[in-house]
Amino acid sequence: MQKKYIFVVGGVMSSVGKGIATASIAKILQSKGFAVSTVKCDMYINIDAGTIRPTEHGEVFIGQDGIEADQDLGNYERFTGIASTRENYITTGQVYQEVIRKERNMEYKGEDVEVVPDIPNEIIRRIKQASLKDKAQITIIEMGGTIGEYQNLLFLEAARMMKLKNPEDVIFVMVSYLPVPSKVGEMKTKPTQHAVRCLNSAGIQVDFILGRSEKPMDKKRKEKLSMFCGIPIENVISAPDVDSIYEVPINFEKEKLSERILEKFKLEPKKSNLDDWEELIGKIKSLKDEVKLAIVGKYFSTGSFVLSDSYISVIEAIKHACWKNNVKPNLIWVDSEKFEENPDSVETLGQYDAIIVPGGFGSRGVEGIISSIKYARENKIPFLGLCYGMQLAVIEFSRNMAGMSNANSVEINPNTKYPVIDIMEEQKKNMQMSNYGATMRLGNYSCSLIKGTGSHKYYNRETVLERHRHRYEFNNKYLDLLKSKGLVIGGINKERNLVEIVELKDHPFFVGVQFHPEFNSRPMEPHPLFFNLIKSVVGRKQ
Ligand code: GLN
Repeated sequence: MQKKYIFVVGGVMSSVGKGIATASIAKILQSKGFAVSTVKCDMYINIDAGTIRPTEHGEVFIGQDGIEADQDLGNYERFTGIASTRENYITTGQVYQEVIRKERNMEYKGEDVEVVPDIPNEIIRRIKQASLKDKAQITIIEMGGTIGEYQNLLFLEAARMMKLKNPEDVIFVMVSYLPVPSKVGEMKTKPTQHAVRCLNSAGIQVDFILGRSEKPMDKKRKEKLSMFCGIPIENVISAPDVDSIYEVPINFEKEKLSERILEKFKLEPKKSNLDDWEELIGKIKSLKDEVKLAIVGKYFSTGSFVLSDSYISVIEAIKHACWKNNVKPNLIWVDSEKFEENPDSVETLGQYDAIIVPGGFGSRGVEGIISSIKYARENKIPFLGLCYGMQLAVIEFSRNMAGMSNANSVEINPNTKYPVIDIMEEQKKNMQMSNYGATMRLGNYSCSLIKGTGSHKYYNRETVLERHRHRYEFNNKYLDLLKSKGLVIGGINKERNLVEIVELKDHPFFVGVQFHPEFNSRPMEPHPLFFNLIKSVVGRKQ
C-alpha cells in the first residue's frame, strides 16, 4: 500500500487541542485496522524540549530512547500505545542542524544550499523516516503553532510539496476554534474562514475542518464552513468540549471521521473496534467514590492551565490508576513553599488520601517538600515520589531517621556534610562546560527488582525498563547506614549499581523511584506503582 500522510494544522488560536485531535485521529484509524505513526513538528530553534522551562512549554516528555520531546508525544503514546522515539519529533533546530552538517560534509556536492527546497526536503525526509520506523500505513503529522505564523511556513511548504508529488496520498485537517461571544450568543465561523484562506495562500487547501468549541456545531455553521472553505459538509466535523480527553475519538466517530478519511484515501476499513475505549468512557462517567490526592511541589503558583500542562503525564497516570481501582481522582495542588513560611501548616496534609511528589529541579520549595514527606512517613499516608520526589525522600530519611542532620543533595547544597544525593561522575564535566542539552541520564534503563520488597510484589516482575531524566543519584556511600536504619532498596540498576527504588516497611505504601513511571501508564493499563498507590488508598478507606 502506498503510504498516506495526514497533516494536522491549527487555525485561529493555539491551545484548542490539536495534540489530542492528532492522537484521536491516529486512534480511530488504528481501530479500523491500519498501522499508524504520529509526528510532532515544533517550530522553535531548540533542538529538543529539554532546554525549555516546563512552565513555558508544558511537560518535557521522555521517549524510551531518551528524546526530550513535546508533551503531545505523551498523548500519542497514551492513545495509540505506540512508543514514540526521536523520529517522531521534529524541530526547526534539528532540521537546520542536519542541513548545515551535510553542507559542511560536502554532501550537497558543491551546490548552493537554499532555504527552499533544502529545508522542506529535510523535513520530508524526517517525516518519512518516522513512518518507516513505525511501519505505518498512515502517518499523522501535527504542525505546532497556528496558521499565519512566520515560523511554520517551511513546514507547510514541505507538506505542500508532498501533496503536489502524491495528491492522492496527502490530506490536510484544520483544527480550528469557533468562538461563541457571550454578548452575541452565536457561534462564529469567520475566524476559521480566515484561517482557511491564510492556508490557501501557502498553496494548501484543507480537506477537513474540526471545529473546536464549547458547544456542538449546528447544521447552519457546518453549511457556512463547507460553502466558504470549499469542502463537503460531511468533512466539517463538530468537536465540542468534553469532560475527558479520551472521549474525543468516540466523538469523532459519531461524525464518521475515520470513514470519511479512508474514503478520501480510497481505503477500505479492515475492522472496526473502539469497544474497550467506549467501555472505559462509560466507566469513567459512572464512578462515584472519590479519593483526594495531594500533589506537592513548587511551580504551582502560575495558574491552573500551565500547571496541568507541566505535569500532564503524572496527572494522566493518576487518573488511569484511579479508574482501574473504581474511584474518581480529586487532585489538589499543594504549594510546598507555604510549609516553609508556616511549618505547622504541614498538618493540613492530613486531609489527603495520598501524597505525590513529582520530578523537579533546583532548591525552590524543597524544604517544604521534605516536611511533607516526613508527614507522609510518620502519619502513614500513602506516598509516591517521582525522581526528585525519591531523592527528597532519601534526604528526609537521612536527616530524621539516620541522624544526618542537614543531609542534602549537592544540587541544593554543594557543600553539604552528608551528600546523600550526589552528582553522577559523568555529569560533573557537563556542568563545568555548561553542556546542558540532552546530557542528563535519559530514557530507558533497566531496574532489577529485589525479591521480598513491595516493588517486586507491585510489578510482579524480575526486571523492568523505566524512563529517566536526571543528573543526580543516590550516594552508595550511605547505602549500608540507611539500610541499617530501615530504608528498603526496592530496585537497582545492575549495570552501574545505582539505586532506582527506595521504600519503607511498616507503611501502607511508601515508594520513591529515580525514574518516571508516569510515562508508561496507559488509560486501560495503569502503571503498577500508580495502581498500587491508589489500591492502598482504597484499602485504607475501606
Ligand atoms: N533534579 C534532579 C536531578 O537532576 C531530579 C530530576 C527530575 O526530577 N527529573 O537528578
